[in-house]
Amino acid sequence: MEHSNQKNGPASDDRQPLPAGNHALLASEAKYRVLVDNQTDLVVSLDRDGRFQFVSPSYCEKFSCNESELRGTMFNQQVHNRDLDQVNVAWQNLFTDPWTSQFEHRAQTEEGNRWLGWALKALRDDDQNVVEIVGAGRDVTDRHNNEERARVDLNTLAHAGRIQSMGEMATTLAHELNQPLTAILSFSQASQRVLSEQDLDRDELAFALERIAVNAKLAGEIIGQMRSFIRKDEPRAEQSNINALVAEAMELVASELQHHEIDVDLNLTEAIPNVQVDPVQIQQVILNLVRNSMEAMQSQPVDQRRLLIATRICKPGNIEVTVIDSGPGLDPTIAEQLFEAFVTTKPEGMGVGLSICKSLVESHGGRLSAHQSSEGGAVFNFILPSIPEGDEA
Ligand code: ADP
Repeated sequence: MEHSNQKNGPASDDRQPLPAGNHALLASEAKYRVLVDNQTDLVVSLDRDGRFQFVSPSYCEKFSCNESELRGTMFNQQVHNRDLDQVNVAWQNLFTDPWTSQFEHRAQTEEGNRWLGWALKALRDDDQNVVEIVGAGRDVTDRHNNEERARVDLNTLAHAGRIQSMGEMATTLAHELNQPLTAILSFSQASQRVLSEQDLDRDELAFALERIAVNAKLAGEIIGQMRSFIRKDEPRAEQSNINALVAEAMELVASELQHHEIDVDLNLTEAIPNVQVDPVQIQQVILNLVRNSMEAMQSQPVDQRRLLIATRICKPGNIEVTVIDSGPGLDPTIAEQLFEAFVTTKPEGMGVGLSICKSLVESHGGRLSAHQSSEGGAVFNFILPSIPEGDEA
């Protein structure tokens, strides 16, 4: 009976010894199960459309629901609306080499609104069709908040730096504004005179009015440039041409440079790839370096004040901006701490300009450095990652 049971009934099958391979398989499955069940990271398996096939207990705990409820629902249901587009874009990376995707998004969890960071990988069949997506996520809210705080601090500091620069520029800006305003005044007086004459010279009147309009526009542009430079906007990343940023920054200091009788040489590489930057912040860096050079060269005879600004492509995938002056060069006593805050050799200096520049450049994924030029002046250069060709909008 027992024998027949063994042959036919399910109970008998249970008692049959498993092939050795199956034992190993069960043991390894149990081992991985223990690993996954005790993970604090959120482990998931999804189908190619993003439907949950498996979620770890840690995931269920995070969203306070059970696995059977989640199975078959969409991964992006948990994604905050504002991050959906970005997650959808990142998701597409799973379908091309290297078949992985990393992204972060906000989600409404048991503990409230949290940031989750994911690293997902697509599994493929022999024909390279994606059949499953597996990966892990973790709560990155604390790191996110710290980064956000640092970003806000840097933004506030950068803003304070720009206001300080504006203060330094105020005299020359007032002078710059004075020119179009004087022109407006004299052309309007000329118009009044023309109007009071018996034979109204329409051409002369038209010319004067046109000059008034041109000068008013110029004054408006000067004010506009100033306002956009000191405004405290959220930093924004824009595809920008570094040569255009250098040229605009140089316009802002043109009259100061002229006043100090500094010879300026721009050596800008044409057809330079774009950079993804906040234009105001990068102009702030350029202006700071130029102003430092200007101040350093004040001790030099006027015929020896030269400033060179160059841009070039440097490999791999970077562009470089170099500012070289003919000043006395870097003071060796502070060379090591040049980029630290409150390091200055100037009696009136704050010593924060270069530390702000360094943080701004680094927040764009770049690097700022300095050395002595072979002729004795200072060389400051910063590199920024450029947008790869083909990725430009
Ligand atoms: P500050 O201009 O208020 O001193 P910065 O952080 O901009 O603050 O500069 C720190 C110091 O770096 C300056 O005091 C100066 O000693 C040195 N430095 C910066 N740029 C130059 C330069 N072009 N030539 C020589 N020294 C420079």
